[in-house]
Amino acid sequence: MVKETGYYDLLGVKPCATIEEIKRAYRRLALRYHPDKNPTEGERFKQISQAYEVLSDPQKRSLYDRGGERAMKEGGVGGRGGFGTPMDIFDLFFGGGVRMHGPRVERRGKTTVHQLPVTLEDLYSGATRKLSLQKNIICRTCAGRGGREGFDARCSKCHGSGVEVIVHQLAPNVVHHIQTVCSQCQGHGEWMRPLDRCLTCNGRKVVREKKVLSVHLDKGMADRQKITFHQEGDQAPGLEPGDVVIVLDQKEHPLFQRRGNDLIIKKEIDLVDALCGCKTVIQTLDHRRLLVTSRQGTIIKPGDLKCIPNEGMPIYRSPLQKGKLIIQFQVKFPDPGWLPTHQLRHFQAFFPHREEVVATEDAEEVGLWEYFPHLERERGFNGEAHHEGNFEPPLRHSAQCQTS
Ligand SMILES: [Zn+2]
Ligand SMILES: [Zn+2]
Repeated sequence: MVKETGYYDLLGVKPCATIEEIKRAYRRLALRYHPDKNPTEGERFKQISQAYEVLSDPQKRSLYDRGGERAMKEGGVGGRGGFGTPMDIFDLFFGGGVRMHGPRVERRGKTTVHQLPVTLEDLYSGATRKLSLQKNIICRTCAGRGGREGFDARCSKCHGSGVEVIVHQLAPNVVHHIQTVCSQCQGHGEWMRPLDRCLTCNGRKVVREKKVLSVHLDKGMADRQKITFHQEGDQAPGLEPGDVVIVLDQKEHPLFQRRGNDLIIKKEIDLVDALCGCKTVIQTLDHRRLLVTSRQGTIIKPGDLKCIPNEGMPIYRSPLQKGKLIIQFQVKFPDPGWLPTHQLRHFQAFFPHREEVVATEDAEEVGLWEYFPHLERERGFNGEAHHEGNFEPPLRHSAQCQTS
């Protein structure tokens, strides 16, 4: 835990940022606010430079992390510290400021993408996940040369061109030149005898190494959100390492569904609660219990949506605010025969008066049957069971419903 984050905020990085991330952030901001480009932002440039001066130095950084800006002033660093003016570090960084105007040609390695499975709870409460990766790093033994120091690795066959010319004598005065990929170095232009190769990397210049990345999940991050680790990709000689991009992959939650900043939960209540008002408990993603009470006399219909403000997902980067928790009600109806027939009359008395339907002579009385669409489909596809114009309801479900 750091005491204050002011300097980190100035550079727009997290307190856990690596030195590479800090450098990169400073480089970007310094280019934007440099007085040459942005004469009105001189003060801002000075602040950014001051923050960088502290955070780029491990000793000053740890002092700042422990004691904040105050400790820096008391310790005599910051402001007029190791560097004279902000321009000095700018020059140090960009080599006299010459490069900032010219195009910077950087060869970069590939970006690698990894999926990280996360739970909805992780995205709700925030979490830190360790992700272990294998990556190529420059061989430390040979410093990426592949062989001993001073050794000329140029391929002896193609002299480094990677191309071999084969001469065919077709006739006494006719020769045919064929260009082909060098058979010794396979076109790489470099080749070493096994004896000359670095023992650690066997001449490959890089070795595989396990790297554990700490992935910080901020509250409210989204499924599919990308987190970039700059320059954490494979290293190769003469190449700026590529980035590692972590893509969050949220596992489905058994109870909650997320829609933007809102959470949706299905809740089944009894018919009596639907009619008379209900009390129910919802356990939140951070294991709090919410007692939900509907006002007495409120009717809840099947499928009704109600919401609790500020109990949804925390909003990314302002986690004190939350979306809504939406409750989708399902009503559980009683089982058949829940009330003895002779009591139905008493029960009916509670409901508003109903117009009685009278059987007149011109009306045909018909039965009401259970209908099972899936059985119908089977009958339809099976020619033998399907008799045209002779539809019989399935016998075992022949319970008639009483129409009022
Ligand atoms: Zn090596
Ligand atoms: Zn060659």
